Amino acid sequence: MNHNVSMPSRPLIIAIDGPSGAGKGTVARTLAQRLGYTHVDTGAMYRAVAWMAGHNGIDLSDEDAVTTIADAAEFELGREVRVDGHDITRAIRTPEMDAAAGIVARHPNVRESLVRRQREYAAKGGLVMEGRDIGTVVFPKADVKVFLDASADERARRRATDPAHTSSQAGAVDQVATALAERDRLDSTRKTSPLAMASDAIRIDTTGMSVDEVVGAVLKLVEQRQ
Ligand code: C5P
Repeated sequence: MNHNVSMPSRPLIIAIDGPSGAGKGTVARTLAQRLGYTHVDTGAMYRAVAWMAGHNGIDLSDEDAVTTIADAAEFELGREVRVDGHDITRAIRTPEMDAAAGIVARHPNVRESLVRRQREYAAKGGLVMEGRDIGTVVFPKADVKVFLDASADERARRRATDPAHTSSQAGAVDQVATALAERDRLDSTRKTSPLAMASDAIRIDTTGMSVDEVVGAVLKLVEQRQ
C-alpha cells in the first residue's frame, strides 16, 4: 500500500471541474484508483449521446429526439467507453465529436436526463466525477470540490499530444488552441449549467505540475474532509 494514502474512513463524493485540457481526466482516474473509488467522466456521456445521435441520423439540434437517446442510452464508462454495446472509445475523441458534444450539452432536457443518471452513481459509494458542472449542479454538496485549470498554452499542448485524441500531433498546437478557446467560450457562456467554478471549490492551477503533484494536492483535501 502506498504510504502517502490513508484510506478514507467514509466514502466521499469528489467533484473535479474545469476547462478542456486542464488535466481532469488523468487526475480523476488516478485519484479514483488510489482511493478505490468509481471514476465517472461525464464528458464521455455527452460525447456518447452525440455519437448515438449521429449513428441514428438524428439532427443534433432536435432536443426532443436527442433527449430520447440520452434517456435510453446504456453507458459503460471505463478505459473503454461503450454506448448500447458500441465501442466508441476512439470515435468520440475527434474534433468533430468535441463540437457535437458541445451542441447536445446545450439542451436543458439532455442535461437533466444525464444529470439524473450521474447522481445515481453516488449510491455505489466513493465517487470521483469530472466534468463542467459537477460541483455547481450535479453534486452541490460534494465533499471535495476542485476546479482544475492551466494556462491556455499548456492546455493546448497537452491536448495536441494526447494519444486518446485523434488529429493529435505536435504541429497542430495552434489549431488545437483555437478550437479549445472556442469550446471553452461556448461552455462558459451557455445558458444552462455553464462551466463555472463553485464558490466553495478549490482552484488548482496545474500549469507546470506533474499528475502526481496534482493528485497529491487533491488527496490532501480529501484527508482534511475525513
Ligand atoms: O470533458 P469533455 O471535453 O470530454 O466534454 C465534452 C463536452 O461535453 C464539453 O465541451 C461540454 O460541452 C460538455 N460537458 C458538459 N458538462 C459536463 C461534461 C461535459 O457540458 N459535465
